[in-house]
Amino acid sequence: MQLFTISENLICFLEQQRADGLRIAFVPTMGALHAGHLSLIQLGKQKADLVVCSIFVNPTQFNNVHDLNTYPRMLDRDARMLELAGCQVLFAPDAEQIYPPGLDTQVHLELGMLDQVMEGSFRPGHFKGMLQVVNRLLNLVEPHVLIMGQKDFQQYTLVQHMISALQLPVQLVVGPTLRETDGLAMSSRNVRLTHEMRTKAPCIFQILQHIREHIEDTPIDVLQKNAISNLISKGLKPEYVEIVDSQTLQAVIQPSAHTSLVACIAAWAGDVRLIDNLVIKC
Ligand code: AMP
Repeated sequence: MQLFTISENLICFLEQQRADGLRIAFVPTMGALHAGHLSLIQLGKQKADLVVCSIFVNPTQFNNVHDLNTYPRMLDRDARMLELAGCQVLFAPDAEQIYPPGLDTQVHLELGMLDQVMEGSFRPGHFKGMLQVVNRLLNLVEPHVLIMGQKDFQQYTLVQHMISALQLPVQLVVGPTLRETDGLAMSSRNVRLTHEMRTKAPCIFQILQHIREHIEDTPIDVLQKNAISNLISKGLKPEYVEIVDSQTLQAVIQPSAHTSLVACIAAWAGDVRLIDNLVIKC
C-alpha cells in the first residue's frame, strides 16, 4: 500500500494510474477503522481497479470541540488494517493539505431542507463542513466511484445532492451498515462507550426493527413516542426518532403515501452520541 500525506504527490500518482486506464474507487473516512469501513474497501475493490482510502479527522464538520478532541486517532493501526484489506492507497493529510491558506474550499450550494432536519438540526454547520471536505477530497482524488456507508444516511443523501447539483463526474455507491452480533451499528465512537452503555446501546437497532415491523399497523406518532420512551428506559438520551422519506428527508405522516422510507435515530449513550437508521421501504 502506498501512503501519501502531501496532496501534490497523491495527485501525480493518481494521474499516472488514470492514464494507465485504471478505475479508481475512493473511500473517505476519519480513521479509527472497523469492519464497517473495511467492507467499503471490499466494495471499492469490486467496483474499481484501485482503492484509495483517506483518513482525515475534518475539523470543519465538528460542532462540538470535545467530540473533535476525543475522536479516536490510531493511524499506524489503521494503515495495517487497510494494507491487510488490500487497499492500495492511503491518503492521510494534515489540515494544511486539505485547507491550504488562501484556497477557498467552501461549497456554495442550496441545500433546501436536507440539512435542516435530523443531524442538521442537532449539529449546526456539520453538513456544510462535511460537504466542504468531501468536495475537496473529490477534487484531489478524482475517483470514478465514491463509496459511502448506509450508516450515515443523511450524509450520503447530501453528498448525492452535491454530486448532482455540481455535476461532479463520480458515481456514488452505498454499502450496507455492518453491525456487531448484538445489532449495534459499528462506529469509531463505540470504543468510547462505557461497559454499561455498550450493553444498552443495541436497543437502538431493536427499536428500529420494531418500527419497521409495525409501520403498517401503528400510527407514526405512537411509534415515535414508544421509541423515545424505550430509549429513555434503557438509560439513553434520544435526540430524535424520525421516519422520513428517503428522497426529501421530510418526516412522514402517512407511510403508504411514500415509496421509500427510512427510520433514523440519534441518541446519547453516556457522553457518546450514536446514530443509526434502517431502510423501511426502498
Ligand atoms: P467515518 O470514518 O465514521 O466518517 O465513516 C467513513 C465511512 O464509513 C462513511 O461513509 C460511513 O457511512 C461508513 N461507515 C461508518 N460506519 C459504518 C458501518 N458500521 N458499516 C458500513 N459503513 C460504515
